Amino acid sequence: MPTPGLILTGAKVRTLDPARPYATAVAVRDGVIAAVGDESDVRDWRGPGTEVVALEGAHLVPGLVDAHSHPVWGLDMATGVDLSGVTDLAGLRAALATAERIDGWVIGHALDHNAFEGRPVHRTLIEDVLAGAPAFLRLYDGHSALATGAALAAADVTGPRSFAQRSEVVCDAEGRPTGHLVEHAAMDLLAPVLPRPSYAARRARLVELLSAMAATGLTGAHVMDAGDAELVGSVARETVLPVRLRFAPWCMPGVDEAGLAELIALQGRGGRHWQVGGVKFFMDGTVEGGTAWLEHADCHGQGTEAFWPDPEAYAAAVRHLHTAGVRTATHAIGDAAVRHALDVVAALGPTGRDRHRIEHIETAPDDLLPRFAELGVAASMQPPHTAYTRADGTDEWSRRLGTTRAAHAWRLRDLRDAGATVALGSDWPIAHYDARAVLATARAPRGAASARAGLTGLEALEGCTSHAARAAGEAEVTGRIAVGYRADLTALSLDPVEAPADELAEAPVRLTTTGGHVVHRGD
Ligand SMILES: [Zn+2]
Repeated sequence: MPTPGLILTGAKVRTLDPARPYATAVAVRDGVIAAVGDESDVRDWRGPGTEVVALEGAHLVPGLVDAHSHPVWGLDMATGVDLSGVTDLAGLRAALATAERIDGWVIGHALDHNAFEGRPVHRTLIEDVLAGAPAFLRLYDGHSALATGAALAAADVTGPRSFAQRSEVVCDAEGRPTGHLVEHAAMDLLAPVLPRPSYAARRARLVELLSAMAATGLTGAHVMDAGDAELVGSVARETVLPVRLRFAPWCMPGVDEAGLAELIALQGRGGRHWQVGGVKFFMDGTVEGGTAWLEHADCHGQGTEAFWPDPEAYAAAVRHLHTAGVRTATHAIGDAAVRHALDVVAALGPTGRDRHRIEHIETAPDDLLPRFAELGVAASMQPPHTAYTRADGTDEWSRRLGTTRAAHAWRLRDLRDAGATVALGSDWPIAHYDARAVLATARAPRGAASARAGLTGLEALEGCTSHAARAAGEAEVTGRIAVGYRADLTALSLDPVEAPADELAEAPVRLTTTGGHVVHRGD
C-alpha cells in the first residue's frame, strides 16, 4: 500500500461532509486526503516516511479560503507609509511630514476617505507639508488616489483625460487637476513614474505575506486580479506556496475580440498551488469614492453611472466568456450594479447557473436577494469592510447612501436566508487578511451593519470553506474533509463554530496544511 505523507491524530475534526460530519484522524497522501476516521482507520496508512502530527484536541476544519483577495497586486498597492491609522486631516498632514521618502517620493496607502472630514479630496490639503516631494496616496478602497502637483507633473498629467472606463482625472473650474484620481485608468497614469520595489524585494514580500496568511489559518485565496505570473510562477517552482492561489484576470471596458481571446487562453494556466480560473469584471467602484452604481444618486449627487459606460458591452463580454466556458466574477457594490450583473446572468438562461459570482454587494434592496439562489449566482462578501462604517451613520459610506440604503448594508444573513451561496473574504489589502477576523465579523458585523443579524458560526465557516469552493466551481475537490479532496486543512485551538466570535478572532492557529504540506505550525 502506498504511504501517506502526513497523518493527523487526536483532533476534533469537523469535516463538513454530510456522509461523515465528525472524525478524529486524517491521513494525507500526494496532496489529497487518503483517509478520514479515527486512529484505527489511519494507522494502516502509516509508512516509514510518514509524518505524524498529534493535534491534542485541536479543532480541524477544511482549509480556510479567502474568497476575495489581492496578495500579489496588493504588494504594489500596500507600499510606502501605512495611513490606515489616520482619522483626520491633521493626522494625515503629520504622517506625511515625517514619512520616509522612497526614491524621493512619498507613497502612502490605506487612507480612509473619512480622513478628509467631508472635504473634497484635493492636493492643496497636503502639498505644503511635503517640501516639494512628489506624493501618491492610495485610498483604502483601491479605487482612487491623491497625487500632488509634483507627482502629476512627473507623469505629465496636466488636465482632464478621457478613458474607455468610467475613470476621471478630477479637475477644478480652470481645468487643472486637483490630484484626485478616480478609478483604475486615472490612477494608472502615474504607474510609469512611481518607484517600484525590485523583483527580489517583491519576491521576498510575497513569500512573507503568504506565510503570514497561512499563520491565520488560510490555505487558499481567490485572487481577484491577474497577479504576476512570472513572479508567482518562479516562487512556486522554488518553494511551496503556503496559500493556494486562484487568479481571475480583469476584463475592462474597451476590451476587444483579441482581449477576450487572451483571457480565454489564460484559463487553466499555472503551476503547483496556483492557477488562472475565471475573469474579474468591475460593474462599479465604491460608495465612499462616489463611484458605486446606484439606483438613486448619493447625497453628493454622485453614483448614477456604471463603470462600463455602456452596460450592454459588459453583458456582451460576459456572454462571450460564458460561451467559452469561463467563470466570471463581477465587482458590484451599488444596487444598480448588482441588479445589472444579475440581469446579465439571467439572460444567459439555464446554462448560466452556478458559473458566475458577484463581489461585494454592499447595499441591495429586498427584491434582489432571492435572485442569487434562483439564478445560481454566488454572493462573495467581505464582512471586515463593515468596520469602515459607523453605526451612527456619520461615516462617508453611510452619509452618501442615506438611512434606507445604509440600513441594507452587507446583507449576509438575508442572502443566506434566501438560499444563496455566500462566500467570504477580506479583499486584502482593503482589509486585514486574517481569516479569523473574516469569520468573526461575519458573525458580528460592525458599523452600519451592526444592527443586522450576522451569520451563525457554521455559516461563517462554510463561507470560508464549502461556499467558497462552490463560488469557484471547486466543490468536488475542496471545501470539505473527505477522501479524494485536497489536503488543505486548518487546525484551531477553539471550535470555530461554537466559540464566541470575539474569542475566535484571537484563537491560536495550531496547524495549516496546503496540499498536504505543513505550511504553518503554532503552539
Ligand atoms: Zn477586490
